[in-house]
Amino acid sequence: MTEKIENDVLIIGSGPAGYTAAIYAARANLKPHLVSGLEPGGQLTITTDVENYPGFENVIQGPWLMEQMKEQAVKVGTIFHNDIVTSVDFEKNPFISKTESGKEFVSKSIIIATGAQARWLNLESEKKFKGFGISACATCDGFFFKDQQVAVIGGGNSAVEEAMFLTKFASKVLLIHRRDSLRAEKILQERLFNNKKIEVIWNSKVSEFVGDENPNTLKKIILENTLDSTKTTIDVNGAFIAIGHDPATSLFIDKLKMDEENYIITKPDSTETSIKGVFAAGDVKDKIYRQAVTAAGMGCMAALEAEKYIAESLN
Ligand code: NAP
Repeated sequence: MTEKIENDVLIIGSGPAGYTAAIYAARANLKPHLVSGLEPGGQLTITTDVENYPGFENVIQGPWLMEQMKEQAVKVGTIFHNDIVTSVDFEKNPFISKTESGKEFVSKSIIIATGAQARWLNLESEKKFKGFGISACATCDGFFFKDQQVAVIGGGNSAVEEAMFLTKFASKVLLIHRRDSLRAEKILQERLFNNKKIEVIWNSKVSEFVGDENPNTLKKIILENTLDSTKTTIDVNGAFIAIGHDPATSLFIDKLKMDEENYIITKPDSTETSIKGVFAAGDVKDKIYRQAVTAAGMGCMAALEAEKYIAESLN
């Protein structure tokens, strides 16, 4: 049976943007409801060390930080739902959102903070070995490659951090990047180049993943040189794809204005979307900064804007 919940603010998503929006909305006495999504806590729950979130002198752990944010949000009055929003209707206010468990939220305002999800190379051979040697999360799966050779694909912060994390288990980590310089921050690059277990393979892209079938086991990667198209084969037991993220916006397609990459468009200096009363914060609308702290900042903005919107709609 459908459980109908009327509320002022519904927050969709539980990363730094969602929890910060919840903390501010709850402290404004708006009694926000937050629906966590498939991966409660968001991307930080699949990372380990965090050393650039302000307020902590020593390194903290991503999952711990998210647990703290959740506890703070709940303590100040957020109603937390471990559930997934499956449909939204923004045609008229109040907005209707339905969830997998059968709840129906009838909300005066909505804050979308659904974040982003890992991007894949989309090769046929990648699909074959996904979960059987190919992963997008070193923190989740690195442990399975003790004393083995693994590859990381990508050249950004994520790829470098994944490569360094994997050296805790693997005998050797090959970082495969399509260009001749990394996009990652200089401090991370320095650590990577100083790590004897890591070798960078420059100007190379994956042409095919090769291995056994029944059971599927990854054995090799065929690489193509991006400068002269020559092919080489490397032996690996595992491959970690770290080539960036796509915004988690499939629920909102044709309902809100988005850019060509499906990031939600908000008004300048605002989190307001193309629909009044619907706000977007964090990686779902930001393809430039994508930091926990910037997402948290946008969550704060969204809650303040939702509060103002609700106050004005009462007049
Ligand atoms: P990113 O910065 O967008 O880097 C993606 C990397 O993957 C780039 O090097 C890119 O190559 C490569 N790539 C993209 N598509 C590819 C393809 N089809 N085949 C091969 N390579 C491909 O993504 P990210 O590393 O996930 O980081 C995302 C954001 O989160 C960034 O803003 C980053 O600063 C942030 N982040 C921060 C931290 C931290 O502060 N500790 C940790 C992780 C992530 P090109 O360089 O050639 O484009």
